[in-house]
Amino acid sequence: MLTFYDQHSIGTMPMLKWIQIVMPNEVNMRYHERITHVLKDGERTEGEYVLYWMQSAQRTIDNHALDFAIRYANRLNCKLLVCFVIMPDFPNANSRHFMFMLQGLKEVVEKLNDIGAMFVLSVGHPEIEVVKRSVHAKSVVMDQGYGIYERKIRENILNKINAEVYIVDTNLVIPVHKAYAKEAYAAYAIRPSIMRQMDAYLEGTYDVPLTCRHEGNPFVLDIDAIFHTHLSSLTSVPVSPKFKGGQSEALKWLNTFISEKLEKYNANSSDPGLFGSSNLSPYLHFGHISPVTVANAVLSSGQPCDAFIEQLIVRRELAYNYLYYAKEDYRDLKRTLPRWAFETIESHRDDEREHIYDLQVLEQGLTHDPYWNAAQKEMVLTGHMHNTMRMYWGKKVIEWTESPEKALEILLYLNDKYELDGRDPNGYAGILWCFGKHDRPWRERPIFGKVRYMNAAGLKRKYNMKDYVSAIQLLEGEQFEK
Ligand SMILES: Cc1cc2nc3c(=O)[nH]c(=O)nc-3n(C[C@H](O)[C@H](O)[C@H](O)COP(=O)(O)OP(=O)(O)OC[C@H]3O[C@@H](n4cnc5c(N)ncnc54)[C@H](O)[C@@H]3O)c2cc1C
Repeated sequence: MLTFYDQHSIGTMPMLKWIQIVMPNEVNMRYHERITHVLKDGERTEGEYVLYWMQSAQRTIDNHALDFAIRYANRLNCKLLVCFVIMPDFPNANSRHFMFMLQGLKEVVEKLNDIGAMFVLSVGHPEIEVVKRSVHAKSVVMDQGYGIYERKIRENILNKINAEVYIVDTNLVIPVHKAYAKEAYAAYAIRPSIMRQMDAYLEGTYDVPLTCRHEGNPFVLDIDAIFHTHLSSLTSVPVSPKFKGGQSEALKWLNTFISEKLEKYNANSSDPGLFGSSNLSPYLHFGHISPVTVANAVLSSGQPCDAFIEQLIVRRELAYNYLYYAKEDYRDLKRTLPRWAFETIESHRDDEREHIYDLQVLEQGLTHDPYWNAAQKEMVLTGHMHNTMRMYWGKKVIEWTESPEKALEILLYLNDKYELDGRDPNGYAGILWCFGKHDRPWRERPIFGKVRYMNAAGLKRKYNMKDYVSAIQLLEGEQFEK
């Protein structure tokens, strides 16, 4: 039986095996370190295809799992079957998330038709659907999952199938176990390792042609039909009017960012009124774009990009490091916060709160604070809140609820319900950052103790808050007119 943490101890694919599959001079040798090889009963000769179960990397560009599956199918001289499983009961997923995902999937299927791969869509659970398809597979490839739930599914599948399996880490620049070998205390701990290794892992993928192409009818995905048949009864959150899913949409946002915002990212991105960030987080979350694609594009633009790389790689990989290694549940403050943070919050637990709001008031953005209300509405209306406002938003919920546990519960609920990039390691690390995770002690004050505090006066002093609030009011007006 494989257990939850075995995957890490199995280690990466042996070099010899790797060389048998791809010519060593064709790709960077670090590529094989993205791959974990789980040998179940050896290579099968009787199978019909290589099966790639696509889940976390929903794209064809710079998808190392797809690339590896193509190379392996070529070596075994067989077809490639890509399987995607829609899970209507995926925790906290709702209509907004599913529509974004389906938009991306439609494009993936079109590209798979072009390269000659077979495709099958199932609705249900991967532990049944992937296992079923694996019976006729020579070998199985999956992309890496990082959260507890995603890894548990992989573990259960591994324990049920009898085929050789490869798990490919393709949603991070540096594979999670290579970036740092244990849970990192803060960004300063992981940064040197990331900076030292980054260049070696910036190898994307090449368009390797499939030798055994599927020559039958192309696969067609009617996303409206799928949505109405299987997903329309889920919690209804309106589809985002601002973000449409898919890798070509992601590339559009990336190109606009590079041509219009990157140069001033360092100066502008923190200011909510300037909207100077990339807006790529929904696409990174669904794997519609690879951070390798993004990093290569900004690095080759000739513009200053250190501040952006810090967010895209150091901060993001720190969050993934946390979720991958932390054995504690992120909902347990005592076990997951650094000791100083938990103790200081605990010692201020009974401090008087000037305002206490319940979930209903918060969800509707009806507090006394126009900045906070604007942030909440930005998230509800578009599915994406500005980074500085996320920090402020989280801090204020801690200040305005009766206990730290209640604050955490509300933050997780709202974040995962409305953000398109919610249900992500960045979200859990970001929310816990509001409680002191990955941060340091500051001057002691009520409710927060030594945990960093933020206030409206600070936002007003530093940023164009008038412009931010007006922009959100405009959005609200447009929504109202519809
Ligand atoms: C309370 C709170 C909740 C958050 N919830 C989420 C969430 O659910 N999903 C999510 O992806 N991010 C979350 N973040 C982190 C951050 O706010 C977003 O990643 C960022 O705002 C996304 O916007 P962008 O793509 O325009 O960022 P950019 O500034 O353009 O940055 C580029 C990329 O770098 C990464 N990044 C940026 N800031 C951070 C950060 N602080 N930590 C980790 N990675 C970062 C993201 O992948 C982002 O897309 C949260 C932060 C806080 C404080």
